[in-house]
Amino acid sequence: MSRSIPTPLTILVLIAISIQCNKKPEPGSEAHIKSATSVIDDEYLANADNTPENWVTYGKNYAEDRFSSLKQINKENVGNLGLAWTLNLETTRGVETTPLVVDGIMFLTGPWGKVFAVDARKGKMIWTYDPEVPGRFAEKACCDVVNRGLSIYKGRVFVGTLDGRLVSLDASTGRLVWQVLTVDTTKAYTITGAPRIVKGKVIIGNGGAEFGVRGYVTAYDAMTGKQSWRFYIVPGDPSKPFESKAMEIAAKTWAGEWWKYGGGGTAWDAMAYDPELNLFYVGTGNGSPWDWFHRSNSTGDNLFLSSILALNPDDGELVWYYQTTPGDEWDYTATQHLILSNMRVDGQERKVIMQAPKNGFFYVLDRANGKLLSAEPYTYINWATSIDKTTGKPIETDFSRYKTENVTIAPGPMGGHNWQPMAYNPLTRLVYIPMHFNSRVYGHDPNWKYNEKGWNMAAVENPNLPTRKDETAPKNLNQGELIAWDPITQKRIWKVDHTATFWNGGVMTSAGGLVFQGTAEGKFIAYDANNGDKLWESNVGSGVIASPITYVIDGTQYVSIAVGWGGARGIKTTFTKENYPGRIFTFALNAKQPYPEFYATKPKELIKLDFSATKDQISNGQMLYNKHCTVCHGWMGANGGVIPNLAYSGEGTYTIFNDIVLKGLLLKNGMPNFSDRLNQKEVTDIKNYILHSAGELRSGKGTDKVHFQ
Ligand code: CA
Repeated sequence: MSRSIPTPLTILVLIAISIQCNKKPEPGSEAHIKSATSVIDDEYLANADNTPENWVTYGKNYAEDRFSSLKQINKENVGNLGLAWTLNLETTRGVETTPLVVDGIMFLTGPWGKVFAVDARKGKMIWTYDPEVPGRFAEKACCDVVNRGLSIYKGRVFVGTLDGRLVSLDASTGRLVWQVLTVDTTKAYTITGAPRIVKGKVIIGNGGAEFGVRGYVTAYDAMTGKQSWRFYIVPGDPSKPFESKAMEIAAKTWAGEWWKYGGGGTAWDAMAYDPELNLFYVGTGNGSPWDWFHRSNSTGDNLFLSSILALNPDDGELVWYYQTTPGDEWDYTATQHLILSNMRVDGQERKVIMQAPKNGFFYVLDRANGKLLSAEPYTYINWATSIDKTTGKPIETDFSRYKTENVTIAPGPMGGHNWQPMAYNPLTRLVYIPMHFNSRVYGHDPNWKYNEKGWNMAAVENPNLPTRKDETAPKNLNQGELIAWDPITQKRIWKVDHTATFWNGGVMTSAGGLVFQGTAEGKFIAYDANNGDKLWESNVGSGVIASPITYVIDGTQYVSIAVGWGGARGIKTTFTKENYPGRIFTFALNAKQPYPEFYATKPKELIKLDFSATKDQISNGQMLYNKHCTVCHGWMGANGGVIPNLAYSGEGTYTIFNDIVLKGLLLKNGMPNFSDRLNQKEVTDIKNYILHSAGELRSGKGTDKVHFQ
């Protein structure tokens, strides 16, 4: 066998090929995104903190602590943060997303479950994906058409869409790889939460408890979309076989015919994972309807509503549970952010799981077995006095269950804390919580009937019963605070007041000794993690509800925040002068890019149009408006949020009013077609009620104040 001797030309060609092979692909190119995202596998995710230059999963890591070990930006120099770039997301609805960043490529979601891939070196869009959710699904969403995030795994990105699909995209192109429908679309299911990846499975929950659905979480094979397991959170019809041993146990804690109203318990947000214990944690939602009497004859704890569940991620079997609110009837979901950490509690090293659910108690549990270690109120509450350390159950106040009188209960359904993620800093050993003060009047409605097409609370003020006021309520009810909470002593260490409203942004903390949070008033702020001193602030135009992230590109640390007012509280009310389209803001030390020219919007003017209607027609219009419209457009006199208050709409809206309401003219934006619920005469009454109210407000007779749900 002969071997030819390479000629100088062959050698040159070989060198050229070798250089070509070793050449790094152009940043932002398909080849670059493919290679950067392909390495994200189970081991990579389990060790996400080893690559602090990236932010690869919703809560930063499986522990979901939203703590970054980066410290190029720190307490000493954070004052020099400047704008590196901004990018308009071309959306006017709430932006709740936590972006992910891999090797300088940012992936984020927008309303409806849209996905954006951005070159974070330059702030340039690479690709967008629109799941084209039909607008009619908007009315199934309790709290705006939001989406909180996505996941990345082996060259793919995964997102849940508002209409209940789980979608897998090629990370380098945004092209659809597979999609599965995870829900029964004849029911009012939605997906707003971020999927999580565990051991090759992509796990997703859903929302819709108020609308009469039965909650569950499902795991799919990340590569194929094939269903691996499904865990139901509440039992179905007990005359049929139980899907799991857990459902058999749960069914013993229910009474009546709950399954006819779905039961609820939807897991629409919080999840975490401990690879060592091989436990996957899920926070579950409230019951359907809210009122315990109508849901379960005021009988039983109603497992697994308002609970923290530990599941085996291999088969979806329940390992342990802890119910934060047995027999819930206040919308006290336990879907709020879950954080895992290890800490010394009562002289013993513990693997803990922490949560500040809506019910107002901060819980520290042993995450190996679900045992309660401690629980204390982190906000103002009056529904319970404490948690019994032996039983793990709340000790309720005698008036909390509102059956013989209407009662003002704190927290209200917005919770002491909602979906806006909290963060834990292992250096300060503090949890930073976007905390709420709020309350609501709950009452028992003996005539409640299940409403397949709307909210099922059954917990509304009963005009035939006396209303008990809360004499001990703090003066700053409806305000919020950013609080630093010591999970060991269960005490607040510092706080920052948010006086405009409780509805502000989620939190991120770093080894630079910082806590970042955006506010309803359009400010993005860095605080000293030790004492809450404000160290830096930037005007980002619109109210912020999302959580920031931080990452490194080419040696420079960046902080990004997705801005876009909306969500449950932002639908109806605004706390900035204007609302701008959703936008990403990215900051770095000494960056000096100019701020975008925020769009100047006209001051809102009350509509002035002639109309003729009788008193009865106006009052019928008011009844119908309150029943069908307030949930999104707000009460007359509120200023409107991302959905306009109609008293301030222009004349043009009123010339096409009938087409909007009865022909679905704005269905694409999410405005339902009401022709199945309202007739022409009723729509005219609603229109005249709005015009009448606008006149009252103009003359100072109407109530021009914000009403709270
Ligand atoms: Ca709820």
